[in-house]
Amino acid sequence: MLNTKLRTNTCGELSKKDLDSNVTLCGWVSTRRDHGGIIFIDLRDRYGITQIVFDPDVSGEALKTAEQLRREDNIQVKGHVKARKEGMTNAKLKTGEIEIFIDKINILNKSETPPIEIEDRIELSEDIRLKYRYLDLRRPLMQKHIKIRHIAMQAARKFLCEHSFLEIQTPMLVKATPEGARDYVVPSRVNPGKFYALPQSPQLYKQLLMISGFDRYFQFPICLRDEDLRQDRQPEFTQLDLEMAFVEEEDIYDIGEGSIKAMMKETLDIDIKGSFPRLKYKESMDRFGCDKPDMRFSLELTDVSEIVKDSDFGVFKSVVESGGIIKCINPEKDISRKEIDRYISFCQECGSKGMAWMRVTEKGLDSNIAKYFNDDVQKRLIDKIGAKPGTVLMFIADKPARCNETLAKLRNKLGADLELYDKKEFNFLWVVDFPLFEFDDERNSWAPAHHMFTMPKKEHWDIIESDPGKVLAQCYDLVLNGVELASGSIRCNNIEMQERIMKMVGFPKEKAQERFGFLLEAFKYGAPPHGGIGFGFDRFIAMVCGHHDIREVMLFPKNKSAQCPMDGSPSEIPDEQMKELHIKLDVVKKSG
Ligand code: ASP
Repeated sequence: MLNTKLRTNTCGELSKKDLDSNVTLCGWVSTRRDHGGIIFIDLRDRYGITQIVFDPDVSGEALKTAEQLRREDNIQVKGHVKARKEGMTNAKLKTGEIEIFIDKINILNKSETPPIEIEDRIELSEDIRLKYRYLDLRRPLMQKHIKIRHIAMQAARKFLCEHSFLEIQTPMLVKATPEGARDYVVPSRVNPGKFYALPQSPQLYKQLLMISGFDRYFQFPICLRDEDLRQDRQPEFTQLDLEMAFVEEEDIYDIGEGSIKAMMKETLDIDIKGSFPRLKYKESMDRFGCDKPDMRFSLELTDVSEIVKDSDFGVFKSVVESGGIIKCINPEKDISRKEIDRYISFCQECGSKGMAWMRVTEKGLDSNIAKYFNDDVQKRLIDKIGAKPGTVLMFIADKPARCNETLAKLRNKLGADLELYDKKEFNFLWVVDFPLFEFDDERNSWAPAHHMFTMPKKEHWDIIESDPGKVLAQCYDLVLNGVELASGSIRCNNIEMQERIMKMVGFPKEKAQERFGFLLEAFKYGAPPHGGIGFGFDRFIAMVCGHHDIREVMLFPKNKSAQCPMDGSPSEIPDEQMKELHIKLDVVKKSG
């Protein structure tokens, strides 16, 4: 029931079945057209647009008021529903066959000239959109995005509740939860000099819930991470977060897939059949150069280090000698010299020194470096890659990590440039068997690849200290079209294992006790086996809406400097408040 004391119907509702009824509508003036003494207005609300007509034969008084109306004035109108004249109907609108002849108008609130057009077709600068976000959100497209968010939330909720999950909120003022970013902190007035952290995720708290016996938990938490902002990052974002006890990895895959399928069905009416495919981390790195491959197209990488080390090409030979690798990508299309040059620049922007290339011809390989590759090497290369004449081989020679990184980006670029995939496809993939640790060159120590609460694979429990680089984790990511959508793991639930891992990543017993003592203490009281996953909800919704930018589906995002142009946060606070919080500033003012 959408009728209220102020309206009988919404602006997205009336059709030919309502002809001749008397209705009252409320909404915003979207456009006004004056047709020789008759005024037509598109009246807009959340539900749609209805054409209303001010005709002197119906009410001269209403027409007079309508003459003064301006864009975004908020009005209430009473009138009766008529069929539009032939040729005047609008098949694009739900209400396109009717119009309302108005006999009474009441201006609920006037609008100043809006600083932005409430119109989907107009491109606006980001700053102005964010400053007047409440108006930007009035646009039908933004209304649609926020509605899709809601539909997805309800779909996941329904699915999870049907599977006995409890929706539980965890606290916002917490001890730091480590997800690898900086914490936002909140000073405690009553505990001078002490700070709460805002949660980077509910990680520790959801694990504690498992220890408390709530064996199926979920929520849509807001996670706060003080990171440098990029297009797909915001200081606060929403997750679909869940945790289960008495489970193994397979159970999480089932529930994760079920949640995604429910959301895909309700938002886009897409039925996803069968289970999501899985790919081991190592295989993913070998074949695609990254742990989040876009599987809408194949275009795989081939490691040719073993072959080209027998060539006379000095660059390749010296890279192999210094521990690097050479990998090749072979788009099955001819690529012009000009385009090749563009791909070379692209690889340089990715941080590689360059990109070597050779054209495959009926007679062998051809380019200005082909002479360094004798017939045998050429043949072995062509055979290993499976290259066909009329295509181009592109090589990156670099340290393994950089080589993979550049080629993974080049692969995505080629996929997009050569239109190797259907943009509308949703391709989900589990990447599994991640390493437990990765080496942090900056700190010169091991760091958790996911987070430090992840359980190593049983068969690697003995080599955690002796061969950390080989230890695999019970950890998984969900990837959608080359984007990491979710991450999760089975957790350590025994204190000894947890302490061993913490020690490896730089938290020896005492330090671990100080930071995570409460969790370690909780592990002493019969912590069940448990695991879970956190989905980047904004990112998922953006992709459902056909966007890459999560800000398109968020209410009041921050700009690139982590400021909110709408409310002006962050901002200074009054001196008294600072005093109360026992805080003195020591800000180095930027010059200029
Ligand atoms: N807390 C993790 C994250 O935010 C998700 C998980 O391990 O469940 O990535």
